[in-house]
Amino acid sequence: MTAPARSRIRVAGIVQGVGFRPFVHALAAEFGLAGFVGNDETGVLIEAEGPPAALSGFVAALRERPPALAVVTGVDVRPLTAVGDAAFTIAPSTAHGPRTTLVSPDTATCADCLRELRDPADRRHRYPFTNCTNCGPRFTIVTGVPYDRAATTMAPFPMCTDCAREYADPADRRFHAQPVCCPACGPRLRWTGRGDTTADPIAAAAAALRAGSVVAVKGLGGYHVAALAADETAVGALRARKHREDKPFAVLVPDLAAAHALAEIDPVEEEALTSRRAPIVLLRRRPDAALASSVAPGNRYVGVLLPYTPLHHLLAGDVGAPVVLTSGNVSDEPIAYRDAAPLAPIADAVLDHDRAIHTRADDSVVRVERGQVLPIRRSRGFAPEPLALTTPVGRPVLGCGAELKSTFCLARGPLAFLSHHIGDLENAETLRSFTEGVAHYRRLFDVEPAVVAHDLHPEYLSTKYALELAGVDLVGVQHHHAHLASCLADNGEAGPVIGLACDGLGYGTDGVLWGGEVMEVSLTGFRRLAHLEEVALPGGTTAIRQPWRMAASWLRAAGIDGDDLPVARRNPGWATVGRLLDSRVGQPVTTSVGRLFDAVAALVGVRDTVNYEGQAAIELEQAADESAAGAATAAAAAGAAPNPRESVRIGRGDEAGAFRPTKRPVRSPPASSLRKRMSRSGPSNGYPARMSGGLLYGSDLISGVVTDLRAGVEVALIAARFHAGLAGLLTRAAVDACATTGLDTVALSGGVFQNVLLLRLLTADLDAAGLRVLTHSRVPPNDAGVSLGQVAVAAARDRS
Ligand SMILES: [Zn+2]
Ligand SMILES: [Zn+2]
Repeated sequence: MTAPARSRIRVAGIVQGVGFRPFVHALAAEFGLAGFVGNDETGVLIEAEGPPAALSGFVAALRERPPALAVVTGVDVRPLTAVGDAAFTIAPSTAHGPRTTLVSPDTATCADCLRELRDPADRRHRYPFTNCTNCGPRFTIVTGVPYDRAATTMAPFPMCTDCAREYADPADRRFHAQPVCCPACGPRLRWTGRGDTTADPIAAAAAALRAGSVVAVKGLGGYHVAALAADETAVGALRARKHREDKPFAVLVPDLAAAHALAEIDPVEEEALTSRRAPIVLLRRRPDAALASSVAPGNRYVGVLLPYTPLHHLLAGDVGAPVVLTSGNVSDEPIAYRDAAPLAPIADAVLDHDRAIHTRADDSVVRVERGQVLPIRRSRGFAPEPLALTTPVGRPVLGCGAELKSTFCLARGPLAFLSHHIGDLENAETLRSFTEGVAHYRRLFDVEPAVVAHDLHPEYLSTKYALELAGVDLVGVQHHHAHLASCLADNGEAGPVIGLACDGLGYGTDGVLWGGEVMEVSLTGFRRLAHLEEVALPGGTTAIRQPWRMAASWLRAAGIDGDDLPVARRNPGWATVGRLLDSRVGQPVTTSVGRLFDAVAALVGVRDTVNYEGQAAIELEQAADESAAGAATAAAAAGAAPNPRESVRIGRGDEAGAFRPTKRPVRSPPASSLRKRMSRSGPSNGYPARMSGGLLYGSDLISGVVTDLRAGVEVALIAARFHAGLAGLLTRAAVDACATTGLDTVALSGGVFQNVLLLRLLTADLDAAGLRVLTHSRVPPNDAGVSLGQVAVAAARDRS
């Protein structure tokens, strides 16, 4: 018989509050091992003793089949001398050493809890705060470490004897579930509205919603405001009071069947919708969907989410119809989370509760494209789960992010903690949310940043925050370098690759506002190979809010007198802007693809002025005839077949960072395979555009748009041809850049790639050209991903 062996095993990652110790206890029984398991501030500590083969099987199982909510980032095994333990026990928590355990994201109600919620015989029947080890609030209620009840906003709710028994029983689903509670001991709802205040608050709220009221509902990460989604008057009132003119609202449905009644849902979308992260999924809306037209004006998609807390399950079930559920705030303020007072001008009534929210978290938003999830907003249900970095950071790093869709990112070792969505850093309240968030994450994950990365834009509040920090090394990272680095990090790569950054506006190394860049890029640096033509932003930031100004600017670049066009007739300031463009005074220039989208949206009459960032581009995508775009893309690429003479001329060589251009032999298969494909494609109906001297001629696309416009071609087709023409132009740029550098991989990042029509057309073209394409699937392509990219760049430079 083999002598027993003993090991000390440390498991790191998200291993507390996820049922890890009962899991280890059961596993030890399965393998016939003695010893103990406990939590400490580094994670889970196990000492196990038994036959060596059983011990190694046990360790393998720890890695391979951890509990559903656990994320194991490391299993460290050290041999010990056997001591002859008789049994396997669960030890109490200790609290010393560095704080390196991880807090899991808030998790949607599990099937077991849902069953209890619906069972009239269960003591948690219709109890809106039901949770267990497999589900419930986590990140939003955690106030400190180590993660136990005292360090959550459940601290003021002592457990009753029934809950305490479940909490202490290793065989129970609620063993060591910190937020465990029941109607006898846990948080309570409060209904403040018209009608019977003694009635069931959820029934009262449901009745008010059905009667057309706007109701504020305190959820997991903040207050939402809700209205019956089919009720045009109620949704209109909600819009008017929230000062939110056009931005689409998300819709909460009671169950999957109700979601199918609103939208077409493919299997990947269904998986995202029903996942424990429970994000808003942007789905193709059914023409017969029973939704007020003001839910998502001008949009063929609708954001749908399923209930993710018992409260939402009960409310959606009682209403029995889709309900608009949007963050409780007034225009640009962050979501209200402490009390409902800021919502008094919006809501007729409030469904409130007495469990405090420590960290606000907005609903996450995803789209699905090419069979994978494309995150648009990564927040509730995702944060603060760390992203694993392929190469660990040396010294801890903080990335301060950009300005719009602000996030920050803290990294130590192999883990990057990308924050929840903070919002647009344009007011004091959001800035406070940002600085408090950084402090909270630093404590929670024990990261003391030595290196701080920031954007180059001197006016970003995130840049100013970084520059005021003392005792750290500062690293400025160009905005689009950070975007492309975030795409590399998203894919676990380091480059070099060819990067296409298509974006709104980002500060360039030459002071120009970039946003249409072709780069040879790695984590350490980049070389700008080509970019969209520079055009003026007439009136500076005013041009962002007034896309018709970009139409004037791009017409000028294309050498077209557009005074006869409808856009000129619609906008009284047209002549003034013309004179402004002539004067060349007071106008920054830009290479932004986002602003090119704005120009086209205004030219075709989709949108002259915007009420939120990116609105014109979003609506142009929605206006495009997708089937026509599919046909147009191959043709556009064909019409713009690369001139071999031009392809050697790209590259102005604006270098930044410690980047060494690749000196690999130039290979041409990508280009030739693209040409082969072009020769097979049909007649051209996407707009052809030239590329030469490192410039991508967006003005050619504008010429195409205007020609069609004057010929009376319908808007859907013009929008489609524009998308296809742009995809063709970008493909040519990528193929040329690959041919020049010998690279064969293209990374796509920047806010423009939230446009799935462009993404679909471009990736199809790049695939066909034989190029490998990297897109986003873990972090958003928009500015929310910039902080991760900054961290990746700063860490790579810190190492080199
Ligand atoms: Zn549960
Ligand atoms: Zn209880």
